[in-house]
Amino acid sequence: MESNARAILLIGDGMADRPVASLGGRTPLEAADTPNMNRLAREGESGLMDPIRPGIRVGSDTGHLAILGYDPYKIYTGRGPFEAAGIGMDVSRGDVSFRCNFATVDANLKVLDRRAGRISEGTKELADAINGITIDDVTFFFKESVAHRGALVMHGPGLGAQVSDIDPHRENERILEAAPLDEQDSASKKTADLLNQWVLRTYEILKDHPVNKAREAQGQLPANIVLPRGVGIAPDIAEFDTLHDVVSACVVETGLIRGIARYLNMDLIDVPGATGGLDSDLMAMAHAVVDALDNHTFVLCNVKGPDVAGHDGDGQAKVEAIQRIDQMVGYLYENLGDTDVLVVTADHSTPCVVKDHSGDAVPIVFWSRRGRIDDCTEFNERAVTRGGVGRIRGTDVMPLITQLMGVQEKFGA
Ligand code: ZN
Ligand code: ZN
Repeated sequence: MESNARAILLIGDGMADRPVASLGGRTPLEAADTPNMNRLAREGESGLMDPIRPGIRVGSDTGHLAILGYDPYKIYTGRGPFEAAGIGMDVSRGDVSFRCNFATVDANLKVLDRRAGRISEGTKELADAINGITIDDVTFFFKESVAHRGALVMHGPGLGAQVSDIDPHRENERILEAAPLDEQDSASKKTADLLNQWVLRTYEILKDHPVNKAREAQGQLPANIVLPRGVGIAPDIAEFDTLHDVVSACVVETGLIRGIARYLNMDLIDVPGATGGLDSDLMAMAHAVVDALDNHTFVLCNVKGPDVAGHDGDGQAKVEAIQRIDQMVGYLYENLGDTDVLVVTADHSTPCVVKDHSGDAVPIVFWSRRGRIDDCTEFNERAVTRGGVGRIRGTDVMPLITQLMGVQEKFGA
């Protein structure tokens, strides 16, 4: 089926909420002035969406995976792979990855500081010194990220991800030995055995590194070991464009969502001024989305602000974040053609009364000048229950988009 349609999927991170007392018992979406989202609701079809299934509290990573068409229960073992991909590391299917901390241990490997005195300089030199170590047939790639953090990718055959942590998660205890959760699981046993060797190797290399010698000379704690945690195996899944028959790009702010997009081989578009905070330059992001439509047929855009406000329990800040997203929607609307599709939703709810993600469903609107119109005239948690989409799951979103675009293969004759 030939189509020149293009689609934008705009995700207000954690945008959905519950009634907030300081907003007169309205949700931030109800309290906000959102003429552009309401126009989409009037001219499109709305409903509620459970990112994974009703009642499940989802993370931003599992929520995005589901909405992008992947079943997180089948493919997600931990955030390690997406964290690593998000800082620009190559992660191949079957690789085992970890989030890591630079830490300080004494000569008996007792943890003195899990964050190495919150080290902020010299971590690239330290990371370079331990990057690319090979033990048996597995190579260990390591890269620093922000402050004391980094990521580790184990690349080699026959690795498993069911291993216990090395990080004791508290100070004044000796580092732990990684072990397979099931002794019969030879792949995870291989991972654990090699990982234990690697961690000791990082101590041998880092303890005498010039960066640490200089730190000690200044009375600072040395970053003399790396503690991995948050293990995950990179799933064997299709790339996004292959799965949905689109040419995709991604305009996002946070490393974790970047990592998912990069792993799915979507084109990443950097936007100066996109900070991931409430001060982010959202109109610059909106311009980048429209520009990306010149040579892509699908653009994912995630705006982090509403989630930040939700975690803070700040209803008014969330209202303002939503109003700024509404301005983006206005600009996107003006720049779409007759066959194009615009979908606005959230990856989960971050209610101000919870200050964390909840298992509440989120509103979603599907808009195209050629699409159906229902009786819903506003975009918020309450109004969309009148909409024609009803209640769907995250994995329903991409089929609903690609059928509106007209790029989906017919199932049957
Ligand atoms: Zn999120
Ligand atoms: Zn969050």
